[in-house]
Amino acid sequence: MLILALLLVLVNCQKPVPPAYVTSCPRRPPFPFVQGQVGYVVCNEGTCGTSQIYSLSIQIYNNIQCNAANSWASITGIAGLDVTGSGVSQFPYLQKNPRDALAACVAANRAQVGQDMVINSAIRVSSQQHLLYQWGNRNKCVGLVAVPGTSNHEAGLSIDVNNYQAWSASLQAYNFAPIGSSDPVHFDFTGTANINPSTAKTNDIKSFQALWNLNNPSDTIPITGVYDAATGLRFDRSPVAGFTNTNCAPF
Ligand SMILES: [Zn+2]
Repeated sequence: MLILALLLVLVNCQKPVPPAYVTSCPRRPPFPFVQGQVGYVVCNEGTCGTSQIYSLSIQIYNNIQCNAANSWASITGIAGLDVTGSGVSQFPYLQKNPRDALAACVAANRAQVGQDMVINSAIRVSSQQHLLYQWGNRNKCVGLVAVPGTSNHEAGLSIDVNNYQAWSASLQAYNFAPIGSSDPVHFDFTGTANINPSTAKTNDIKSFQALWNLNNPSDTIPITGVYDAATGLRFDRSPVAGFTNTNCAPF
């Protein structure tokens, strides 16, 4: 009897089984879409790489800029800085101050280092962070991923440097701090930001929420700047080809 009771306790204490990773759509209820079942963010979780949601992501990027002017500055065209990699070529942007610091760092140290600085990643907008986060939760494609709205990449203040060992000392002299062994390619800009980091991260989520509301007037969500369950679900349901109405969505 005692053994039976112990067994019952053990059974009752089992962790809930996480949902299996599903590569076809719809992934999980509630997901009311029936038409097509492709073309939504949730349907693109089976393939690694955020370029598949570029059209949606660039709308979020543009909508941040239209609400908060001068949020972004391009890091293309800087001699000695390689931004041709797939993770950065579509979004070669940072805030202006880290961009200027990076350009100065490369100009002053390229000859001595003896190789171009190769950037893997610069800014990331909330749709991209959402996709990475969903992968990370399923042990797919990526390792540990910050919750959308909390990554310094979303603020335009961080870079991932492929050849970080060659460039680490130079970067640190220009206010780029390495995060360390947990993510050795990652550097955070510790100088003065053009837009406060927490504001910039909030803007990234707000931009999506406002765009969603503009295009889904019968299914609006609060524009909080917080990545909550309701917002995550709308990311899933967003079209990878971008929203129809691309007007500036104020937040
Ligand atoms: Zn990083």
